[in-house]
Amino acid sequence: MKPVLALVGRPNVGKSTLFNRLTKSRDAIVADFAGLTRDRHYGQGKQGKHEYIVIDTGGFEPDAGSGIYKEMAKQTQQAVAEADVVIFVVDARGGLSAQDHDIAKYLRRVGKPTLLVANKAEGMLQGIQISEFYELGLGDVLAISAAHGQGIRGLVDLALEPL
Ligand code: GDP
Ligand code: MG
Repeated sequence: MKPVLALVGRPNVGKSTLFNRLTKSRDAIVADFAGLTRDRHYGQGKQGKHEYIVIDTGGFEPDAGSGIYKEMAKQTQQAVAEADVVIFVVDARGGLSAQDHDIAKYLRRVGKPTLLVANKAEGMLQGIQISEFYELGLGDVLAISAAHGQGIRGLVDLALEPL
């Protein structure tokens, strides 16, 4: 069985962009605004001789009204249940939000192996800007840039390491 990596995080942090990097495909719709990807998407990727499956999340019907957060939470839960490793994506530029805390709390409770990744960190890879994310209580923070392809190889190495 190929290991399954699930990308979770609040809208607009760059999950679908990372999905495309990890799968070298255009399966997920990359939105210039939050929430265009309407369904979970599955893709396949390979690094060296290691193959893996990636699940993108974040889709919900735009007209779901008050159901939006519920639907997002449901998708996250399903993806986490299917995953061997969870990649929790936060926004290095946007900083921590209440939703990040909620997701972190959920992930700590579930106890699946989780990698905390601060995306959009191009130009600040050595910076201290990401230190606030240690607050989430999920261990080390890995700075990456999905859009610029920085830190992706290291991320896959770390994600597949325990498997
Ligand atoms: P999702 O809602 O989490 O799936 O986020 P998307 O992948 O749709 O990306 C949301 C926005 O962030 C888009 O405008 C992307 O171009 C942008 N984005 C994604 N990755 C990066 C990155 O590494 N750096 C920067 N500066 N922008 C990014
Ligand atoms: Mg998306």
